[in-house]
Amino acid sequence: MSKNYYLPQSNEVELFKTAAQMNLPVLIKGPTGCGKTRFIESMGEELGRDVYTVVCHDDLSAADLIGRHLIDENGTYWQDGPLTKAVRNGGICYLDEIIEARKDTTVVLHSLADYRRVLSIDRTGETIEAHPDFMLVVSYNPGYQNVLKGMKPSTKQRFISLSFDYPKSEIEKEIIKKESGVDEDIAQKLVDIAKEVRQLTDVDIQEAVSTRLLIYAGKLITKDFDPYQACMHSIVESLSDEDEVLKVLEKLVSLYF
Ligand code: ADP
Repeated sequence: MSKNYYLPQSNEVELFKTAAQMNLPVLIKGPTGCGKTRFIESMGEELGRDVYTVVCHDDLSAADLIGRHLIDENGTYWQDGPLTKAVRNGGICYLDEIIEARKDTTVVLHSLADYRRVLSIDRTGETIEAHPDFMLVVSYNPGYQNVLKGMKPSTKQRFISLSFDYPKSEIEKEIIKKESGVDEDIAQKLVDIAKEVRQLTDVDIQEAVSTRLLIYAGKLITKDFDPYQACMHSIVESLSDEDEVLKVLEKLVSLYF
């Protein structure tokens, strides 16, 4: 049985498999908690490739990706980082929130993302040709993107791009049922709440409610939490710190539970 349950939203499975066959890197855009990581894990499983996930941040160094010299009682030795492991042995290297990483860190990806498929490691003088099963996948959340940090066109244009969004209601309902164990009725209400929250335009919410938060609410409910309380602690409180916004969201939830 598959470890990573994944319900497709559109043609992403076919596209990803084709990109993998063609040795092309993939870029996934989408809001947080909409299924990007789960998708890649399920693709890794289907294609029989290990997935090496790195969550990017501005302190991430090239050494964190490529590897570094370490010391033990026998002296120094080289340890491959996650990117090098995937390049050397085959596997999917998934760089989540790539935009958070500095340009001097991600520059090492260029020669891997195009036809060359090589990784040069300055510190060891090694140049590794990527394993046929190596695949580079990056993601970012366009909502968080600040103009300065946007991805350079020269980088972007090396990837096959996929755009993710929150799943359509019917699909999201199935996901919530499967992942949290709630019944049809509760799942429908959670999806309806999400739909309304996502349509709120005059309320200052940085990002709308994710599928992940709906699953959290569902899980609390299956643990016998009162559904109203479950929604308050998972959905409402996670979306804002502003009293006015919290009031609007609370009211919305109270219409359902
Ligand atoms: P992201 O990487 O986009 O932040 P995740 O992949 O971690 O989001 O998704 C959050 C959770 O939502 C997953 O753990 C999974 O339970 C659920 N999920 C979202 N989309 C799907 C989907 N299409 N099929 C199955 N589960 C999904």
